[in-house]
Amino acid sequence: RLVLGIETSCDDTGAAVLDEKGAILGEYLHSQKEVHLRTGGIIPSVAQCLHRENINHVVQEALQRSGVEPSQLSAVATTVKPGLGLSLGVGLEFSQRFVRQHNKPFIPIHHMEAHALTVRMLHPIAFPFLVLLVSGGHSLLAVARGVDDFLLLGHTLDEAAGDTLDKVARRLSLTKHPQCSTLSGGQAIELLAKDGDRKKFPFRTPMGQTLDCCFSFSGLRNQVTMTIMKKEAEEGVEKGTLLSCANDIAAATQHTVATHLAKRTHRAILFCKANGLLPLNSPTLVLSGGVASNQYIRKALTIISDTTGLQLLCPPAKFCTDNGVMIAWNGVERLREGKGILPPNVDVCYEPKAALGVDMTAEVK
Ligand code: ATP
Ligand code: FE
Repeated sequence: RLVLGIETSCDDTGAAVLDEKGAILGEYLHSQKEVHLRTGGIIPSVAQCLHRENINHVVQEALQRSGVEPSQLSAVATTVKPGLGLSLGVGLEFSQRFVRQHNKPFIPIHHMEAHALTVRMLHPIAFPFLVLLVSGGHSLLAVARGVDDFLLLGHTLDEAAGDTLDKVARRLSLTKHPQCSTLSGGQAIELLAKDGDRKKFPFRTPMGQTLDCCFSFSGLRNQVTMTIMKKEAEEGVEKGTLLSCANDIAAATQHTVATHLAKRTHRAILFCKANGLLPLNSPTLVLSGGVASNQYIRKALTIISDTTGLQLLCPPAKFCTDNGVMIAWNGVERLREGKGILPPNVDVCYEPKAALGVDMTAEVK
């Protein structure tokens, strides 16, 4: 069984062909990152335009590399939620035309479900497992109980961890930094932080008094922005040209994000243990999403998993960020279980906002 996966939920146009065991037969990814770095953030209409320009080529290239003809496919899986409406629309429209033309089943995919399941393509882990997803648009903790069965324990109340890192990087104009011109905000912060002293800026860890598993990053971003403004004023330099302590600010921001993620995850593990939500035998914590490629954050989560007796699994960086492979894999998992497979002629709508699974956030204390 062969599945074509298509991803256009944000700023990456991705496609891949996988077999039922998760072998990647062919893949192709077109990133819009450089364009969006130049404009200082994603402009949805620009993203849409670039997806439109590239989607046909991306899909054809993935098919060609795999040596698979459309007629040999068992199904096409495409991200339809959540994400930027204009971006999702391009992938969905293309896919619906494609499945009708080739008379193939269509599998609509939840982008965060795909991030959560990618790990099963690489490690044979069984359900249930705890998953922490930290990306540009999401920060969430969930128990994955099955392919389409999630318990949402916590989500962000304001912005996502990756978004905060991107905004701090932009405020520091890190794209102008010689080593960072092609890096995402999070990557730039990680690089600068290596030569920084986090103790110079002891930012407050968010939500110290709240007993749930939700996240909040906007307060931290405020603290960091105020600090940058103060330092710029003290040193009499123009906005976004602070050089003297950018490394220290990056290190302190990264440390605070890591601490917040680790503390909430620790709470979630205790909640899962108290309520029997994880297996007693080799319980697992999965860390994924773009921010999960950060080594400092991985280390913080390793400490939490070690002290609570969970094994930590984290897909390699290229599978943590958006790609067609994870969507195709989600399609393989759904096809295997016969879940959410539609005939080619059914009209599907995209959904910019879509919760993952059953919302338990109010129950987690
Ligand atoms: P979502 O999955 O929520 O729709 P997205 O798909 O845009 O969002 P990803 O592609 O999974 O997000 O991840 C992109 C985010 O990951 C960006 O915010 C980026 O700054 C961050 N990121 C990438 N590499 C690193 C790193 N090494 N350290 C920290 N953050 C990183
Ligand atoms: Fe993503």
